[in-house]
Amino acid sequence: MEENPYQNALKQLEIAAKQINLEPWIHEILKHCMQISVVSLPIKMDDGTVKVFTGYRAQHSTALGPSKGGIRYSPDVTMDEIKALSMWMTWKCAVAELPYGGAKGGIVCDPKKLSRGELERLTRRYTYAIINMLGPKKDVPAPDINTDKQVMAWIMDSYSIGVGETTLGVVTGKPISIGGSQGRECATGRGLSYVAREICKKLGVALGPETTVAIQGYGNVGSVVGVILGQEMGCKIVGVSDIMGGVYNPNGIDPLLLKKHKNETGSVVGFPGTQDITNEELLALDCDILVPAAVENQITKKNARNVRAKLIIEGANGPTTTEADAILEKEGIIVVPDILANSGGVIVSYFEWVQDLYSYFWDIDRVNQELERHIVKAFHKVYNLAQEKDVSLRTAAYMLAVGRIAEAIRVRGLYP
Ligand code: GLU
Repeated sequence: MEENPYQNALKQLEIAAKQINLEPWIHEILKHCMQISVVSLPIKMDDGTVKVFTGYRAQHSTALGPSKGGIRYSPDVTMDEIKALSMWMTWKCAVAELPYGGAKGGIVCDPKKLSRGELERLTRRYTYAIINMLGPKKDVPAPDINTDKQVMAWIMDSYSIGVGETTLGVVTGKPISIGGSQGRECATGRGLSYVAREICKKLGVALGPETTVAIQGYGNVGSVVGVILGQEMGCKIVGVSDIMGGVYNPNGIDPLLLKKHKNETGSVVGFPGTQDITNEELLALDCDILVPAAVENQITKKNARNVRAKLIIEGANGPTTTEADAILEKEGIIVVPDILANSGGVIVSYFEWVQDLYSYFWDIDRVNQELERHIVKAFHKVYNLAQEKDVSLRTAAYMLAVGRIAEAIRVRGLYP
């Protein structure tokens, strides 16, 4: 049976709850989402027929502030996946010390099979259906799998029309022309690269031509990681895969040319000078750093023993199951967890929201410097706690995150 991401999220919460002796009543609250909406979205298709799509928005917590998290479009979206992802957003925001709780949304659809007009109508109808949940002070969506700045622009526009005023801060990841932030598109990959540099320093390894990297997924996160680790930090990218398959070259793959190839052909497969590999072979490559940057449930109890990387840095949300985590820990493989490693995206989303609320916009250098400062600080807090308590980085990140939310719930108390 497929792993259920929500069950995985509950197990991770339980591990942290035990570690910090969390009061059972707070644990009970955190097991649940505060609010979940399931909406039916009837859309007029280009051929004149009407199709009804299902959309979700789950808000896990608002203990620290408005809820925050992306919206994904995929045929694989399920309610349990969205619930898990919203919970992970709560922890991610708390690790980075952002004044947010977690949320996530999704529409069950295959965006590749939709025209631009259909995609726009679907996005606008979805925004309308959940408009009462949204707002800069309530819940702030952002891009996720298969959604981008254009989708965010449609959400911003539909929301603004609905409430009767242009509201920049209702979504992040927008185009720059309507209140988007410099650096947002590359922020998740850039943040992950800073984390890679910091963990390698701790392990006494300088990132350079001797450092080999394999990347699963070459979309918004994976391709930026490839370019920053491969070009700016000088590492050797030896393998990359996407939904169609993978490519391998022990002498290194040019990350920028690979990106161009993917943009032109739709996949990394067939990139000149590389050997074809499967996705499973990519996960088992002998390399220093493995970056799973695709979807959840990729490293499971079935394949965790095959992993030969020394370090896993999670670009995707939930790529490693709890069972796999235990196996990797036994094998001495260090895992930098998603809620820390991929938090660069929501950190710059936070900067975007702040800029929107103050209508004062920063230049790219300021964004990147603040991102580096924020994520490096979070990394050190997690790393130090892991050392102090002799736990994995994931457990340490959870202990910090759950501890922060729990403190907010404790002082706010229970209403009524
Ligand atoms: N979807 C991204 C994530 O999973 C970004 C969320 C955001 O910026 O709100 O972290």
